[in-house]
Amino acid sequence: MSDRMLLGGVEAGGTKFLCGVANEDGVILDQVRIPTTTPDETLGAASAFFDQAAATHGPLSALSIGSFGPLSLRQTSADYGSITSTPKVGWSDIDLLGHFRRRLDVPMALDTDVNCAAVGELLFGSGRGLDTFCYVTIGTGIGVGLLIGGVPHGGANHPEAGHIRLPRAVGDQAFEGICPFHGDCLEGLACGPAMLARWGVPAEELPAHHPAWAIEADYIAGLCATLTYIVRPDRIIIGGGVMQQANMYAHVRRTLTDKLADYDASVRGLDMSVYVAEPTAGASAGLTGALAIAHRTITRQWPMHWAIGAQQNSVSTLAKVS
Ligand code: ADP
Ligand code: ZN
Repeated sequence: MSDRMLLGGVEAGGTKFLCGVANEDGVILDQVRIPTTTPDETLGAASAFFDQAAATHGPLSALSIGSFGPLSLRQTSADYGSITSTPKVGWSDIDLLGHFRRRLDVPMALDTDVNCAAVGELLFGSGRGLDTFCYVTIGTGIGVGLLIGGVPHGGANHPEAGHIRLPRAVGDQAFEGICPFHGDCLEGLACGPAMLARWGVPAEELPAHHPAWAIEADYIAGLCATLTYIVRPDRIIIGGGVMQQANMYAHVRRTLTDKLADYDASVRGLDMSVYVAEPTAGASAGLTGALAIAHRTITRQWPMHWAIGAQQNSVSTLAKVS
């Protein structure tokens, strides 16, 4: 390991790519926001950013990417490192990791955007001090990241918990759902665009007393009940645009309490006000998480000193400057 570490991180989203470089203390040295247009244009601009950063700050030590998916994350797969069958036009079968590998010879890591956001929450937000928790986003899609035993979970591939099927909420029998693969899976019924398709207006324009919100809370609480039984996490952190609706957390907590039905002592003992939490690591938790994963590929441990020494310009303040 060289004594000067330069860590690269990418938060690859359907709207924008955030790229940044940080030193070993988590101080951001440079960052850029690139609109997600075509893969050639966006990935070209991202590697140009890292070339420029290396010219200014010295060679990169590691690069980590948190991306929208689905992704192929099985290292033995022929398409390892690719975005596979995304509905995002032009981005299916794009070799994301390969693009950077062809240009940079440094250790690299790729994980889901939600796993990277979970790492951001672990270091700087509502996941601090926890061993096992879920990070859920209810936005353009529905995604779930899992931090299990202190590390992001991955198996043969990443989980796709947004696509589970739940019982229909009372009053929601007719809507067929918008998932191009499953129709009325959870994402097909409850992501932001599903609310737009069902009610004819964007979710943020629905009034607080609209019946949409009880239906939405039922699905989100249904996901939380499922995660509780499968993962039994310390906490479920829920973010994404749809959660900005006033009272959504209270609504989900109440509905989840009903669904868990006092099942057993460990579930009965849950303090819902803590168990279902808002993300607090800031809007760039995905990028901060990716940078922390880059650090971990070199040192084999999380840079906990970033969280302790968080000051101006450190990754914890990224959200304010990006
Ligand atoms: P992405 O998942 O692409 O990162 P967001 O997490 O910002 O995007 O989620 C976008 C979705 O959130 C949109 O479908 C939008 O209608 C919905 N949304 C944004 N603001 C609100 C709000 N205040 N209340 C409810 N839904 C909202
Ligand atoms: Zn689906």
